[in-house]
Amino acid sequence: MDVPLVVRWIFEHALRNHASRPIVSREDDGSIVRLTYADFGRRVAQLAGALVEAGIRPGDRVASFGWNSHRHLELYFAVPMIGAVLHTTNIRLFPEQVCWAFEHAGDRLIFVDGSLAPAVERALATKPDFRRPFVVMGPSSASLPDAQDYEAMLARQPDRFDWPELDERSGAILCYTSATTGDPKGVVFTHRSTVLHAFAGGLADALGVRQRDTVMPVVPMFHVNAWGIPFLAPMVGAKLVMPGNRLDPASLIELIEGEGVTISLGVPTVWLAVRDELEKRDLRLPTLHTLVIGGSAVPPSLFDDLERRGIRTVHAWGMTEMSPIGTVSRVHADLEGEPWEKQRDVLLKQGRFTPLVAWKILDDDGRAVPHDGRTAGQLWVRGPAVTGSYYRTGAALPVFDAEGYFATGDVCTIDEFGYLHIVDRSKDLVKSGGEWISSVDLENTIMGHPSVREAAVIGLAHLKWVERPVAVVALREGAALDEPSLQAWLGERLVKWQIPDRVLFVDAIPRTGVGKFLKRELRERYRDLLI
Ligand code: ADP
Repeated sequence: MDVPLVVRWIFEHALRNHASRPIVSREDDGSIVRLTYADFGRRVAQLAGALVEAGIRPGDRVASFGWNSHRHLELYFAVPMIGAVLHTTNIRLFPEQVCWAFEHAGDRLIFVDGSLAPAVERALATKPDFRRPFVVMGPSSASLPDAQDYEAMLARQPDRFDWPELDERSGAILCYTSATTGDPKGVVFTHRSTVLHAFAGGLADALGVRQRDTVMPVVPMFHVNAWGIPFLAPMVGAKLVMPGNRLDPASLIELIEGEGVTISLGVPTVWLAVRDELEKRDLRLPTLHTLVIGGSAVPPSLFDDLERRGIRTVHAWGMTEMSPIGTVSRVHADLEGEPWEKQRDVLLKQGRFTPLVAWKILDDDGRAVPHDGRTAGQLWVRGPAVTGSYYRTGAALPVFDAEGYFATGDVCTIDEFGYLHIVDRSKDLVKSGGEWISSVDLENTIMGHPSVREAAVIGLAHLKWVERPVAVVALREGAALDEPSLQAWLGERLVKWQIPDRVLFVDAIPRTGVGKFLKRELRERYRDLLI
């Protein structure tokens, strides 16, 4: 039957087939809300009624400004299912950027978590002529102009809604890239791409989430749909645990232990902090069988430390433009029974492609690179969950080739088993003389030093070599290390020209809103260091 692939499929399936499964959500004050998918369904219907009463029509954009919570999940379904588009706004934007984001998206109504209302207040102060109605979710110390209370809005509505038939090509969610390398660019996920992505990302060799799992997305719902978990978990009926605004390691560990989390997902920074806490308290997390880590490369030292505590890291790669999941690393059938070292090598790579991603890796002359795991080239992708354009973004256009493949901007290798390894972002590669140095490889080597917590490597202008690597390093708590000792330690592991010219120690490395190193800022800060 030619029926549209719309988000409502997932919603109605969850209500009919997984009605009793739980959704656990931590409120701003630390208390825990417990719902079932059946309760959730009634609340989504009430929210839809409230949206229509507020004048939201098909095609309108509605913003969310929130943590991972059951209310955010309700928005994820109610907004697209009435035909509107949910703009998941990055809560870590600077105050001046927040109103820009609302305006650029053309949001007609803005939902804000109570604990984040002060941030929106600060944003409004930078732009006094900005007027939009707000809905505040949960108690708040701030008072936004023209604001309604979320729960009061829902309470006035019936718990059934007559959902409209929608075109599967209509927009469901609008998300902006985290602007690690440039200005934010908006990507609209359609109903169709969202459903297809949930299926492909959910396969056993991809995220592999099952009904019996308890899933805790730490990766934010304000950034690429929390890697699809808000759709995947209801689809399979997994128990969902939403950590709210408490993302410190102790609070995450408490939820993992208390709720029996089996799968969690997030960027390396989060798990570096959790690892430190586990080591400090000599803890194990017996229920947690899988930690999906992506967004930036997994440092091997983190992988090994977690493995020692019985936690398997599943490395994943993707990007906003891909909805986001592109590859996931699981052991290939042909490598079963191989020595651990060999399996570890491939598990540290970014993984193998999910089924709805066509790909090619081309060298500078446009030739496909051999599958030798060594020769690097630019990665191009194509597929039903890859974006075809950016949303209203004047100058910045996605780059496509004649065959319709999208340029990811990532430089990578592919091996005989089909494992993708991201060498670097093309903008982050260090061009030293005639040689290219992978900032990621260098960071991973440095993070292997027992005193180092985190390291970011940037290429800085150099009169003789064009660029030379410089490492910005944050040490582990209580550790001491100086520049010459680290350089000497690296000298035993790297060839001479790969050793950073300078090592700069900082308390913390600046990050983007989603926890990636903000190398743009580091390059700016140290621009003339080597000149
Ligand atoms: P932004 O480009 O603003 O950071 P995205 O979150 O869409 O926004 O980032 C996608 C990029 O992040 C990828 O193109 C890649 O460079 C990087 N990335 C994502 N996952 C990984 C990973 N597992 N290893 C290395 N790099 C990664």
